[in-house]
Amino acid sequence: HEAKKTQQQIVIYFKDLSIRADNLFDMSLLIKQALKNEEFELYLQPIFSSNLNEMHGAEALIRWPQSDGSFISPEVFIKTAEQMGLILNISKWVVLETINHLKSLKALGFIGAIHVNLSTRDLESQDFYELIEQLISVDPTLSDSIIFEITEGAMMTNIEAARTMMYKLNDRGFEFSVDDFGTGFSSLSLLRELPINQIKIDRSFIKDMLTQPADYAIVESTLFLASRLNCKVVAEGIENKALRNTLTAMKCDYLQGYYYSKPIKINDFILKYLN
Ligand code: C2E
Ligand code: MG
Ligand code: MG
Ligand code: MG
Repeated sequence: HEAKKTQQQIVIYFKDLSIRADNLFDMSLLIKQALKNEEFELYLQPIFSSNLNEMHGAEALIRWPQSDGSFISPEVFIKTAEQMGLILNISKWVVLETINHLKSLKALGFIGAIHVNLSTRDLESQDFYELIEQLISVDPTLSDSIIFEITEGAMMTNIEAARTMMYKLNDRGFEFSVDDFGTGFSSLSLLRELPINQIKIDRSFIKDMLTQPADYAIVESTLFLASRLNCKVVAEGIENKALRNTLTAMKCDYLQGYYYSKPIKINDFILKYLN
């Protein structure tokens, strides 16, 4: 039912977008305008440590609120931003916004890291690297406060660029998480070739693992592989207590999903987790 609801929402997002923008070019103008007018918002979704059962960190997820109170899904506009050469501007905004908020979060006792999603273009960009270098020269603790999430697809699109950028950032102390792990075609070779510290098992393997033996086996094997490679594991899409209990018993390090919380406004995150 939830999936159906989500699908319906996405259809509405598309419809809304097709009213505002009937082609990629119009849409990219709207994205540029949104960046300029500061229409984007950063939400945080907590990531819980399974053994302590407490908030360990959070993922930064971008939101684009519309005047009618609806949101355009990032699934929709991030793709356009990638195609139209705007993703770098969005990623820079996300990084800067994350840093701004980290200051107040840390002052309130937040000690975890915030996960920031990156795209292929970011990995290819000298400009992006220079921004990070500049930011880390101002605050050397930054590499402990931000973890970069990159999907397998984004790594594979330009594996040479990914390798170069990831090793450079890794030299600066940054850690990397493979997002949507298991959904690509090179999951295992990535683990061998890139400086990866963490794996996020995709929700598609988690959601039915209690009833589908194949999904359970994939999750179990991924946990074993990760522990042998000294990688931490986050399970995405924890929607109920049964999944939480099972993955905790399986010694999955970190859990994220609606069971704990949806992505929420930063002020709500503070009220809920840092008071
Ligand atoms: P992702 O990085 O894999 O993020 C996880 C997505 O799963 C988020 O969707 C989150 O709201 C959703 N989610 C979390 N827990 C649950 C759960 O228990 N059940 C279900 N059904 N869903 C859950 P969201 O925020 O719509 O983002 C979708 C995708 O858009 C992200 O997937 C990421 O690829 C991209 N995205 C979002 N924010 C950014 C950003 O700042 N930069 C970049 N480059 N991409 C972003
Ligand atoms: Mg992510
Ligand atoms: Mg993910
Ligand atoms: Mg995803």
